[in-house]
Amino acid sequence: MRAAILREQGVPVKIEQVDLDGPEQGEVRVQLVGAGACHSDYHRISGHVDFGTVPYILGHEGSGIVKEVGPGVSTVAVGDHVIFSLTAQCGRCRNCHDGKANLCEFWVLGKATLPTGRRPFSQDGVELYADLATFAEETVVPETYLVKIREDIPLEKACLIGCGVMTGVGAVLNRAKVEAGSTVVIIGCGGVGMNVVQGAVLANAGKIIAVDKVQFKLDMAESVGATHFIDASKEDVVKRVMDLTNGGADYAFEVIGFPQTVRQAFDCIRPGGTCVMVGVPFKGQDIAVPGMKLFWDRTVMGTFYGAGRPKTDFPWMLDLYQDGRLKLDELATKVRPIEEFNEAFDDMNAGTAIRTVFTF
Ligand SMILES: [Zn+2]
Ligand SMILES: [Zn+2]
Repeated sequence: MRAAILREQGVPVKIEQVDLDGPEQGEVRVQLVGAGACHSDYHRISGHVDFGTVPYILGHEGSGIVKEVGPGVSTVAVGDHVIFSLTAQCGRCRNCHDGKANLCEFWVLGKATLPTGRRPFSQDGVELYADLATFAEETVVPETYLVKIREDIPLEKACLIGCGVMTGVGAVLNRAKVEAGSTVVIIGCGGVGMNVVQGAVLANAGKIIAVDKVQFKLDMAESVGATHFIDASKEDVVKRVMDLTNGGADYAFEVIGFPQTVRQAFDCIRPGGTCVMVGVPFKGQDIAVPGMKLFWDRTVMGTFYGAGRPKTDFPWMLDLYQDGRLKLDELATKVRPIEEFNEAFDDMNAGTAIRTVFTF
């Protein structure tokens, strides 16, 4: 069975043959159908974030079909179509009960093992590290990471819900709770930023102002519903936003992960406005804003995984897709076999793809 293995940061990833043990108590074996290439995979590959657990099987956005269930599994069955969730949704912890499943206390992603500490992937008897391992033909995960979905939607499209769509749309609807008629700025229109635009459309926002340095991404933002566009390589973003909004936006979403762009988002909002950091910040970096501006009822808000409640949110998002109200086809700008792994991340860096979906 093939999988994309990160052996050393900064070195091209190879597709290699691996072995996979079957599911144990509460675990499920899934055959992957689609898997999205996400910027956080790239952070690991490139060495932008320290990453000690190698050799590591990459991938966290994915969809597939259940092949085998371990003892005690009750929420999915063989043959079910499923999407992987970034976070467990155990349904028993305090945060799950409180409607904050994105903060489930049984979240282990990033440990690079199953919750039990087990590592089901190996190569010539040597155990490999993995989290959800969606860049493999098959993977084994706890059932709490899987959401069963309707079967009439192509899995190569549905996979996008699992990370980028949940994060972006959820940031607007679940976390910031943008009101109809609000003015919304989106700084950074990549795979997640596009979904912040979509969330703003679903919230019936008034002006939806897309900001990026790449014209292709601004064009894509238009295709999913942005109404105004600022090329940050040519224009003064804050000044343009002030002009467009008569003194500041109600909401500004930062979808890159740099302190300077969070500050820029903050500077775009009016008194009483909300700045939402969606981008993943680099470790150890502080976010600073001017105290007097904050004093005027402005809010700086973090959001992890779009305050997602996967078992609740994935199904309605797919219903919206089927009804033509949430766009997925436009997001998956390229489909590639897993063998073209490194090319997909070259596209990402060149800004020529919003999302590449790997097939197996
Ligand atoms: Zn992701
Ligand atoms: Zn929980």
